[in-house]
Amino acid sequence: MLLGTHVLLPVNLALMVDLPRIRHGNTPLFSGGGLLAIGIFGALPDLCSPHVSLDARHASLSHTCLFLGLLIFILAALTSFLHKGQRLRLAAACWLASFLHLAADAVSGGIPWLHPWSEDILGTFYIDPLWWIPSDIVFVVIGSSLLLIRRRWLHAPPRPHQDLPSPSPH
Ligand SMILES: [Zn+2]
Repeated sequence: MLLGTHVLLPVNLALMVDLPRIRHGNTPLFSGGGLLAIGIFGALPDLCSPHVSLDARHASLSHTCLFLGLLIFILAALTSFLHKGQRLRLAAACWLASFLHLAADAVSGGIPWLHPWSEDILGTFYIDPLWWIPSDIVFVVIGSSLLLIRRRWLHAPPRPHQDLPSPSPH
């Protein structure tokens, strides 16, 4: 899959989890910076080993279980300065974003999940490359809509009280 899908699939999922909370007046689970981090970690396997060909992806270390394992320690270090509850939530969301990247690539060409110990490729072209650009477009449209809704609901003025009309003097 292409970067748009990798970035926006986890961001859109995070927004879909968060929007009902925001609608009910609760603090968002993920700040704008948190959503940005989730998007970056969604793209991370490709950012660590930029490639065009499928062979290059199949030779990369960033599309493997080893990468996902190392990411746990990296995320633990990167989020260590955050508040305890926020730390675990953001680290888990960022790890899931990278996991979703590998899952999406597994169904669109396959990943070398056990590299460097095995050349076995997990997955194949269940999703034809012809659908990759339309997929990016759909995720951009959905993501833009969800971000607009989030912004509107976060900045909505407090609802006025529904006071009963005062009785008219007679
Ligand atoms: Zn990839």
